[in-house]
Amino acid sequence: MATSAFDVIIIGEGIAGLTAAGALARNGLSAATFEQQIFGGLVLNVNELDPAPPGGEAGGAAYAAELTGANAEAGVTSIQEPVTAIAAADGGYTVTTDGGSYRARQVVIASGARLKLLNVPGEAEFEGRGVSKCADCDGPMFQNETVAVVGGGDSALQEALVLTHYCSKVYLIHRGTAFRAQQRFIDAVQANEKIEPRFGTTVEAVLGGQMVEKLSVRSANGGAELAVAGVFAYIGLEPNTACVPDAVKRDGQGRVLTNDALETALPGVWAIGAVRSGCGGSLDDAIAEAQRAADAITVRLK
Ligand code: NAP
Repeated sequence: MATSAFDVIIIGEGIAGLTAAGALARNGLSAATFEQQIFGGLVLNVNELDPAPPGGEAGGAAYAAELTGANAEAGVTSIQEPVTAIAAADGGYTVTTDGGSYRARQVVIASGARLKLLNVPGEAEFEGRGVSKCADCDGPMFQNETVAVVGGGDSALQEALVLTHYCSKVYLIHRGTAFRAQQRFIDAVQANEKIEPRFGTTVEAVLGGQMVEKLSVRSANGGAELAVAGVFAYIGLEPNTACVPDAVKRDGQGRVLTNDALETALPGVWAIGAVRSGCGGSLDDAIAEAQRAADAITVRLK
């Protein structure tokens, strides 16, 4: 039995979801956002968004809070329950959570993505004891220590730069032979004497006693151990698709496929942001997709 009905249900209170919900509400539609953890998504752990969102707060958490406050004023209902299923019903959709079921005429999947794991021995064991997913939050705990960042994209380079504010040395361990990041981050990394890039290198294990002490790595020169107190893996993202119905098509990495208008194979179910195959990856891309989807849904429903 459905408990509440909305024009649009948006799954995920990351920047994409929050932006879409606000735009829909301002367009006169009833909108509800669902979140299983805390609003903000991936930017929550970024102290300084670079570039900062146009006209918004530069801190990730502050920006998300700003959007959340504006959404509340615009009449968006925020529901803190994990969505477990989305099913077609009566010409619209039923969205089910642990707490109940809700009706919507249209659904926007904005469930975002999470950091990929290295999947090496010691990674899970030392989580919170030197293995971290947040340079901004945990960096201050590594004052004057040596740490390792793994990855060669924007996230790895940006977070390695953050860690140089606290650490005496940052190994930047990349399996490839060249970084695949924005040139300005590459330039900043190359100019920073605290960062030692290790190309052509993979991580085999995280080692230690009570806390992380070493990283076992392998390169063309063979195996080696690096003495580190912290390990930060930024090796890309995995989409959050647990609640996405099978009828919604995915790409090889599990990200949701849409047409150019951002609608999935299920009519009336849309996808935006990091969960969507083909989303550019920058905050601007997520915001632009949210706005486009909100406009298209408004035209559809009005
Ligand atoms: P990404 O661009 O997918 O880069 C992932 C990096 O990790 C690549 O260098 C990749 O190596 C490496 N990697 C992947 N799997 C690995 C494994 N199993 N072991 C070791 N290394 C592995 O991911 P991201 O840096 O998290 O960025 C995600 C998206 O967000 C991108 O679109 C990015 O542009 C965007 N972003 C933007 C900003 C900004 O604008 N300020 C900041 C952060 C992120 P290969 O190169 O060999 O594949």
